[in-house]
Amino acid sequence: MAIKPPQLTAEARAAAGAKAVAARRERAAVKAALSSGAIGIFEAINDGRESIQRMRVSELLDAAPGVGSRRTYTLMAKAGISETRRIGGLGSHQLQKLRSEMILNKVPVSPGALIVMSGPGGVGKSTITAHLRNHPAIWISVSVTTREPRENEKDGHDYHFVTEEKFDQLIARNELLEWAEFAGARYGTPREAVATALDLGKHVLLEIEIAGARQIRKADPKALLVFIAPPSWEELVDRLTSRGTDSPERRAARLALAEEEMACVDEFDEVLVNHQVDEVALALLSLATYRSRETPK
Ligand code: 5GP
Repeated sequence: MAIKPPQLTAEARAAAGAKAVAARRERAAVKAALSSGAIGIFEAINDGRESIQRMRVSELLDAAPGVGSRRTYTLMAKAGISETRRIGGLGSHQLQKLRSEMILNKVPVSPGALIVMSGPGGVGKSTITAHLRNHPAIWISVSVTTREPRENEKDGHDYHFVTEEKFDQLIARNELLEWAEFAGARYGTPREAVATALDLGKHVLLEIEIAGARQIRKADPKALLVFIAPPSWEELVDRLTSRGTDSPERRAARLALAEEEMACVDEFDEVLVNHQVDEVALALLSLATYRSRETPK
């Protein structure tokens, strides 16, 4: 049976045409930004828009300064990427290969930035993280912890939940980039996963408490430490005390801890006031982009 093209109404055809025009414009803008050096190859690859994800890898590489069509095909062949592959279809192994081939061939690639986000409990850090979770330019580190999972938390997604023995083992094997104790449990950042994501040009976001942030500062002076502050102390108190499930003692302890945490604000590179989650998420993303450009490998 012959397959007929779908019958489109005049409006649907016009809408499809307009969408195609907009997509072409977006692709042209990205290629122009790449050629002029305003963005890097991996920034373009990590651009989440459908129009960019549907662009051919070859078309993108060809537009990059210092690549050109001959090198495009050599790089792609070495990375095991077929000529017709689109950006959205690249696997992480291929991305990694492409990146290392580019470094070998002295094509400039900007590494991802390591961003540490801290701030007092109740300030909304996890909502900000959730907001950024599906952004292709960002990789969110999943910590290991010895605390019990809460309802709705999934192992491997919110945390890797481990035993005390396993945590001891991770420390002994130097597999944690940092770790700290908080409210009776231990929390740590897996070292290797962070390095892999940075190698793929992703910005890595760690949502950790302050002792951990200090360790990252020492381990990697290029890391950007961002403090999330509440619009006012009163608002934070409101947020912390409105969780009806806490006992008065627990509530007082949480407030005391928040006060201590607020006092550390000066140790951070940037302070973002959480008036609105989407604004903070956007600000984090631009800070990450700036930081990765400042510190070429
Ligand atoms: P919660 O138990 O409420 O999920 O987290 C408690 C605190 O631990 C939060 O301030 C959170 O940011 C912090 N935290 C989560 N993961 C890590 C980690 O890997 N390292 C450190 N140092 N703190 C973490």
